[in-house]
Amino acid sequence: MTATDDRNEGMAGRRILGVFAHPDDPEFFAGGAFAKWAADGADITFVIATSGDKGSADPAMTHERLAEIREREEREAAAALGVRDVVFLRYRDGELFPTLELRRDITRMIRMKKPDVVVTLDPTRWFGTRGINHPDHRAIGAATLEAVFPTARDRLNFIEHERDEGLEPHKVGAVYIAGAVEPTLSIDVTEAVERQIASLRAHKTQISDMDKMAENIRQRSLDPNSPPEYPRRIERFHVINMR
Ligand SMILES: [Zn+2]
Repeated sequence: MTATDDRNEGMAGRRILGVFAHPDDPEFFAGGAFAKWAADGADITFVIATSGDKGSADPAMTHERLAEIREREEREAAAALGVRDVVFLRYRDGELFPTLELRRDITRMIRMKKPDVVVTLDPTRWFGTRGINHPDHRAIGAATLEAVFPTARDRLNFIEHERDEGLEPHKVGAVYIAGAVEPTLSIDVTEAVERQIASLRAHKTQISDMDKMAENIRQRSLDPNSPPEYPRRIERFHVINMR
């Protein structure tokens, strides 16, 4: 049983940094919440570690061309959610590890953007009953948590950020973990779920059947406790309050 967030005004004016592994992750894992927060007036940046350059079965496709197409798809999808700022770190798809290099790059983004809230994936989710989690998803979750605490907060970590770029340390207020093994908060995304579906339609190289995707998202987000005549849609997060 998770708590429901009824304080919908909570994200107005907040800075939110979403850190994910692939183009389509933000829309797929938390697109309803991002659409809602953007409409509430949050200032949202997506940081995408790879450009998804392995996600194609087309024998004529190359890494370079696919990366270019998928970055374009992600920018279009983010815009459909109301998110204009998308940064690609351009690590290789399928080979992401929570290395010090990745931690440093995420720490740099945190120090630049100074988010109140960081959204990422659950590094402890290995598998569910319907599949195995992508290793890049675990890697980005681990590296992001390590960047939030203690790395971005303490100035002597990656001191070159301050020395070379004048970036100050930053303390993140809260981390929202999407795709969480143990969610603690349900967010009502009833008004936002169609915008989430519209954003996923931008990922043309990834989704072959758009109607099936739309139905899956509507089914997956349905709150079983809502009355059938007033179906409510939710997204769940594990929230870590850092303050
Ligand atoms: Zn992914």
